[in-house]
Order: sequence, then structure tokens, then C-alpha cells
Amino acid sequence: MTLSKHASHVVIVGAGIVGLGHAVAALDAGYRVTVVEQDAAAVLASVRNFGHVSTSAQSGELHDLALEANSIWLSLVERAGVEARRSGTLVVARSAAEEAVLQELAADRASEDARLVTGAEAGELLRIPDPDHLRSAALFPADLTADPRTAVARIAAWVDDHERGEVRFSTSVREVREGAVETNRGRIAADHVVVAAGHLVGRLFPALADEREVRECALQMLRVRPPREMGIGPAVLTGTSMLRYGAFAGAAVEALRDELRASRPELLEIDANVMFTQQADGTLLVGDSHAAHRTAPPFLDERWSRLLLDEVAAVLGAPRLEVLERWQGVYATSTRQDILRAYPAPGVSVVTVTTGVGMTVGLALGARTVAAL
Ligand SMILES: Cc1cc2nc3c(=O)[nH]c(=O)nc-3n(C[C@H](O)[C@H](O)[C@H](O)COP(=O)(O)OP(=O)(O)OC[C@H]3O[C@@H](n4cnc5c(N)ncnc54)[C@H](O)[C@@H]3O)c2cc1C
Repeated sequence: MTLSKHASHVVIVGAGIVGLGHAVAALDAGYRVTVVEQDAAAVLASVRNFGHVSTSAQSGELHDLALEANSIWLSLVERAGVEARRSGTLVVARSAAEEAVLQELAADRASEDARLVTGAEAGELLRIPDPDHLRSAALFPADLTADPRTAVARIAAWVDDHERGEVRFSTSVREVREGAVETNRGRIAADHVVVAAGHLVGRLFPALADEREVRECALQMLRVRPPREMGIGPAVLTGTSMLRYGAFAGAAVEALRDELRASRPELLEIDANVMFTQQADGTLLVGDSHAAHRTAPPFLDERWSRLLLDEVAAVLGAPRLEVLERWQGVYATSTRQDILRAYPAPGVSVVTVTTGVGMTVGLALGARTVAAL
């Protein structure tokens, strides 16, 4: 750590998980940090998600980043009072085609990373009294579940309490250029600027967002009461999740896609990833559907919610689930890249996760950006 680093000021636009991951990394590296957030509290993608730190389902760079982020999450439990636990993930198979995908994955992975369990064992983990409908499952023991509703607020409070850190809420950045950001409350001088504006990146850098084909992906989510006393269990992924994540990539995945196209086209039509996580109060965060737009319409389609609820009820062997809350989340998506990194002006970095894994990889992106400042 050099003296000049102590004097250097990093201004970060956005107090979501990506912006705060950068703030933690920059503070740890000795910089002075100001995070600027337009809202009075971060309320966008980083609080609307499942809180699933889904390490083992990733592949390639996302897997490497997820492993790094996993340790950072656990360190923030200690340092910032973040609620995150090593919940593990259970990927349940209810059909022969789903089971074949899990077998393909397990053949490729070390047993401490992914372990096949029987349907009865999966049923025990989820406290399902009669789990005959579960053929088998893969258990990913290393995965975490965080509380998405409190995590970014707690990290922001830690940053703000740091002697070199500050978070300015209710302050909207209008323009970013070399050496400064212009906000609705005046100019902030900066040695380095990191723009972590999530799906709103195009408001500040429209040409970049167009060139990288950034779209808004809208997702329908629900919080439900657990159908019975379930303890606090693992995150749960299902067959549609196997179509989504990089770790499931063999020939069996295409066979599963064909089977679902024939047997459950409605799930593919809403691009479902039927999954849930369990929070410390026992409630389940259930989702989700996906629809990409230039600007996401705000309306929740009740048929989509019903489909997701029925699927999760079927996994849990429950007749129906009581809904406590419904909401829409939006994240940045692109077919061009998983992570948009750009350097539009000297001293300005733009970092946006353009696939739905920001809670999994976001905390690891900061150290990489900061190392290159
Ligand atoms: C419903 C849903 C479920 C998901 N589930 C998961 C999951 O379980 N696991 C996982 O890994 N990922 C999940 N994701 C993806 C993950 O939530 C996102 O990738 C991640 O939160 C993106 O973080 P971010 O900091 O880039 O964006 P955001 O959380 O959107 O933060 C960006 C912040 O920048 C601020 N901002 C923007 N422009 C300005 C400006 N001009 N001035 C000041 N402030 C500005 C915004 O107000 C916002 O607070 C999910 C996403 C959704 C929507």
C-alpha cells in the first residue's frame, strides 16, 4: 500500500452489491471511498433477489469469481454483520431426464463440490414427509444463502462507518467524466470513478449500453409461508434451473430441454427458473420468470405467478402455498457478455453484471477493478 493510494479518492456510482463490492475492495486497498446512490436506500436488483450465492452451478470465469465472492460474503458476516449462511444448494430431479443431467454433472465434479443424494435424502433435507416424487438430487455444499433485504444496507453502513469511507444516499449522478462526477447535489472530485449502476448503466452511457446490447430482464418473485415446519434448509433449484447455469452443459441438458418443450412448454414460454431460498424467518423466496425488454413493463402476470407457485408446491409436496408478498425485480441482461467492463474515459471504469448472477459474483469484481486502478 503506497502513500499516494491513501490520498486517492475512488467515487463509486451505485450502492448495489457491485458498487459496494468495489467499495469494500477499495477501502481494503487503502483508498478513500465515496459511494453515491440515487435512492434513499438501495432498492433495486440487489434487494429483490433470492440471496442465492450459487457458486457450484457456475462455470468458467463466473465460477472463479463466485469462489472468490463466496469468501468475501463470509468475511462480511464477521465485518459488517451481513446475514449469510452456508446453506448449500439442492438441485432436485423429478424426471429421468433431470436425473441424467445431475449424473452428467456429478461425473464431472469432485464429490466435495457436488454430491448425488437419493430422493429420500433430499426429502429429509427439505422435511418433505412423503418424497416419492423426488427421484434424486445433487447437493452443492459450498453455496450460501444471504438475506438480500438487509445485506446491501449492512455493507453500506460498514462502508459509511469506515474512517476512509462515505455513502451519500439520495444523490443522483448526472454525468461522469475524468476527475469528477456531477450530481444533483453538486460536483464530487475523484481520482477514479467506478460506475456500478446495474441495469441503469445506459442512463449515463447510452452508446455503451447500446453497443453491448444491454436490456432490462424483468422477473416475477414471491415470498411464501413454508407449507410446514421445514427448519432452515438449503436453496433449491429444479429442472428449469438446469437449462440456465453453466455447470449443466452436457448432452443430457439438450435432452431435458426437448422433454420440457414437449411436456411443459408453459415453463419455457416464461423462461422459468423455478427455485426458492429459505430466509432466517422460515419464509421462502420463490421465483422466477424472465422477460427481456428495452424498458421493463411494471405489470405482474398472475398466470406466471401461479405457474411458479404450483411448481414449488409440487416440489414440496404441498397442496398450495400462502403468498405473503409479490414483486418484480429487474437486472441487466445481454447476449454479448456476462460481465460488461468498459473504460469510457481515463480514470473511469464501468462494471455491470449482464446476467442474473450478481449476488454470486458481484463481490469479487471489486478486487479486480481496484487492482487495475
Ligand atoms: C428477482 C431477481 C432475482 C435474482 N436472484 C439472484 C440470485 O439469487 N443470485 C444471484 O447471484 N443473482 C441474482 N440476481 C441478480 C442480482 O440481483 C444482480 O445481478 C445484482 O443485484 C446486480 O447488482 P448491481 O449492484 O449491479 O445492481 P443494483 O442492485 O441494481 O444496484 C445499482 C444501484 O445503482 C444506483 N444507480 C443507478 N444509476 C445511478 C445514478 N445515476 N446515480 C446514483 N445511483 C445510481 C441504483 O439506484 C442502484 O441502487 C437476481 C436478480 C433479480 C432481479
